[in-house]
Amino acid sequence: MNFPRRGVMLVLASPSGAGKSSITRTLFGQDPHIGLSVSVTTRARRTDEVEGKHYYFVDVPTFERMRDEGELLEWARVHDNYYGTPRAKVEEQLAAGNDILFDIDYQGTLQLYEKCRQDMVTVFILPPSIKELRSRLERRAQDSKGTIEKRLKNARVEMQHYFEYDYVIVNEDLEDSTQKVRTILAAARLRRDRISQLDNFVKDLQSQIDSI
Ligand code: 5GP
Repeated sequence: MNFPRRGVMLVLASPSGAGKSSITRTLFGQDPHIGLSVSVTTRARRTDEVEGKHYYFVDVPTFERMRDEGELLEWARVHDNYYGTPRAKVEEQLAAGNDILFDIDYQGTLQLYEKCRQDMVTVFILPPSIKELRSRLERRAQDSKGTIEKRLKNARVEMQHYFEYDYVIVNEDLEDSTQKVRTILAAARLRRDRISQLDNFVKDLQSQIDSI
């Protein structure tokens, strides 16, 4: 039986290079029922990034205007740039029963906890080692050496927030980690408080007993 349900806000967080983007990509390729929350950022666009798909790239005054006019559900300064989640689409998608994946940092996650904890399930991804983290950042070859060093330093701070998340996955193997995220999402979709019309269904079952 398929009951209507509210969408799940699935938050994936990790230090840069822990494999979150690869997990996200694999998940999307396989599950048509989940959409990505596209953030706004003041960071420069990387060569392989597409406006509106990876981010909405804006300048600082535009970001500050959006923030000050309440257009962002959460926002944070990460690696010297601003990042934020546009509010409008999120509520519309959740109400329509569509799940949304958020790739946001711990500061954003804490802000969402304040506003919509009951809609959220959160997962923190850890790298198997710092050696592996560094080599993933270098392999990506999208950032300068200085940026990579800054991201490694930031990873230390980011990792100390793992305990604020519902689940933690050590990403040794992409397919295995993606499967774990899929399992977490499947369970979140089944939560009683997300499913509507259960009350009527149970009442109907009861009335069938009454009429025996
Ligand atoms: P990157 O520059 O590598 O795309 O992202 C850097 C960090 O910013 C990542 O940890 C990512 O999760 C975080 N981030 C991306 N978008 C948002 C957002 O909308 N809000 C918050 N709080 N963090 C974000």
